[in-house]
Amino acid sequence: MLQQQCRLLVETGGYRSASLSVSPSTSSRRNKSRLKLVASSHEHRNASEDETIHLKLSWKDSSQGRGELHVESLTPFAADERVALQIIADNIGDSLQQIRQASANHLLESRLRQLSRALESSHNGVMITSSTQLDHPIVYVNPAFERITGYTADEVIGLSGRFLVRDDLNQRGLGTIREALRSRREAHAILRNYRKDGSLFWNELFISPVRDEGGSMTTHFVSIINDVSERISYEQQLEFHANHDALTGLANRNLLNDRIAQALAQARADGLLVGVLLLDLDRFKLINDGFGHSPGNELLKSVAHRLNQSVRDTDTVARLGGDEFVVVIGRLQSADDLAIVASKILRSLNQPFIMEGKEIFVTASVGAAVYPRDGEHGETLLRNADVAMYRVKEHGRNNYRFYAPEMTHMAIDRLDMEGNLRRALERDELEVFYQPLVDLEGGRIVGAEALIRWRHPRIGMIQPAEFIPLAEDTGLIIPLGQFVLRRVCADLNEWQQAGLPPVKLSINLSARQFRQDDLAASIRSALDSAGIEGSRLAFELTESMVMHDVENTLLTLRELKNLGATISLDDFGTGYSSLSYLKRFPIDTLKIDRSFVRDIHQDKDDAAIAHAVIAMAHKLGIRVIAEGVETQAQLDLLRNFGCDELQGYLFSRPVPAGEFALMLGQGKTLSATGQS
Ligand code: C2E
Ligand code: CA
Ligand code: CA
Repeated sequence: MLQQQCRLLVETGGYRSASLSVSPSTSSRRNKSRLKLVASSHEHRNASEDETIHLKLSWKDSSQGRGELHVESLTPFAADERVALQIIADNIGDSLQQIRQASANHLLESRLRQLSRALESSHNGVMITSSTQLDHPIVYVNPAFERITGYTADEVIGLSGRFLVRDDLNQRGLGTIREALRSRREAHAILRNYRKDGSLFWNELFISPVRDEGGSMTTHFVSIINDVSERISYEQQLEFHANHDALTGLANRNLLNDRIAQALAQARADGLLVGVLLLDLDRFKLINDGFGHSPGNELLKSVAHRLNQSVRDTDTVARLGGDEFVVVIGRLQSADDLAIVASKILRSLNQPFIMEGKEIFVTASVGAAVYPRDGEHGETLLRNADVAMYRVKEHGRNNYRFYAPEMTHMAIDRLDMEGNLRRALERDELEVFYQPLVDLEGGRIVGAEALIRWRHPRIGMIQPAEFIPLAEDTGLIIPLGQFVLRRVCADLNEWQQAGLPPVKLSINLSARQFRQDDLAASIRSALDSAGIEGSRLAFELTESMVMHDVENTLLTLRELKNLGATISLDDFGTGYSSLSYLKRFPIDTLKIDRSFVRDIHQDKDDAAIAHAVIAMAHKLGIRVIAEGVETQAQLDLLRNFGCDELQGYLFSRPVPAGEFALMLGQGKTLSATGQS
């Protein structure tokens, strides 16, 4: 066509020559040669260069490059002739532009065809969307896309690229993709997409912009679609595993901590309460031992199921391991609401379970703690719920109880008893107090009972009832007992050196200590190293300790007696209260329990029994000490019954060694208290 234009100019216009030169656009100059077309007249062929007049008409199009029409004439160009030639040049420019556009389109098409052949065989889904239109319509999808999504190309071409997400719009990855589309950048995200049949698949999506030839405009986006459902489901399983109890599918401690933290954050925000219930099945061990491991596991699963059914979906039920469960109730209005949940749970467990065709009844002990009253953090709440739960166990089980601050001391015993107590021994947090024993006849202090105290750096003074049973369980009672023994001997020595009146000190022995093989030897060594006579010690035992294994008990008691020590039977009246022990064993003293003494002046039976016990003991040559004497009325009665010694708040509470030494030195007597 261009050639023809040049020829026409020469042949019809009578010009010497006409030529067209076209340069390609600047960006792609490298690839294309300059195009030059020349036509020249034969008639003017012989004319010399000097005779010709040149006319250059150029045009320029930013995207199409430059062009130039060059006409040579032997005669000068008239003004209107120039205008006419300019129009021709412009026309040539226009048609050139059209030609280029057409061939470019052709090229794109054939390149796309090539590209799509590659894409057809791709394993990954590919989707090309146009980004020049508002809704990013799909212009191409490959067969893998069809396979993954279940849609055919025909069904999706023209739809917005978003359609795979459906209305599952609350996905973090969507923001990433949207932002990339907006700023025309590459991006990567994992999205929940939906197949034609509605099933979900996880799409690991890569999108990248496709720019036009000039590189300045993004015309398309290519999306690579990877169905990573299998990998994600594996990851989810792993995650589930990390956060759930394998047996019951309930949350494990990990997830529980998260959930409590969430519930607390929420509660802080809207001023509500959070309840934590810690639940421990009663006597589960018996069931496990009786039925075996796997029926036991089935039972735990059923319990888990009932717990889940007793709470709302938004609450958390977790298993801490063994037969311990935790329920977290968020958005509570009041502690009463938590009590309602606790009762509901207990009721649901009270329905029989079927194990191997038999009806089984299961009960649980539940401790309750409420944020913020019982703790600011999950850890504290769990710990306090545990303390409360333990109280339920102690008081008959199958019930729930709210935590109360008085229970706090129990918390350390049970949760970190061993560590704490071990540390207490190392760091000198333990101390021995003395409670005077007063002779009723002369009213003088004749001895004292050594009673251990734990001065905890944070909590303060902890009473032995709160840690002795646990020290026994953990075996720490042995070093603890050693400590008391050495301390008592050392104090006796000090008072002896100070010239105080001689006293006999009573030491409580626990069952475990009593069965210790080297008990007598260790007492001997403590006595020797302090330079103390064995006769200055008394050992207190309870009936339950001596009633089993009579022979060994007798052996041990004789060893103690051989040291010169005396033996007291403690807490008499609480256990078997069998006077036969008094005959059988070499017992020197009997301590009537506080619970007995308490009502002695009100309850005629108690009084009669106390009287009989004292009389009987005396017949056997045994002295009697009354424990827990708090009032003058109690004292008067006991004196009438012929009781030998008194121990109780009426005379003195247990006091530190220094204070006791002071009492001894001052010769404090019962009459001097002004009550006798
Ligand atoms: P226990 O042997 O029956 O000790 C007497 C308890 O009665 C002491 O409690 C004492 O403080 C308390 N008591 C004394 N007089 C009165 C009174 O008038 N009214 C009332 N309400 N209570 C009174 P404590 O010191 O709390 O000791 C509790 C128990 O801990 C002891 O009971 C004893 O079984 C055990 N225990 C204390 N120290 C030791 C020890 O060093 N080793 C061992 N194995 N056990 C110890
Ligand atoms: Ca005692
Ligand atoms: Ca006692």
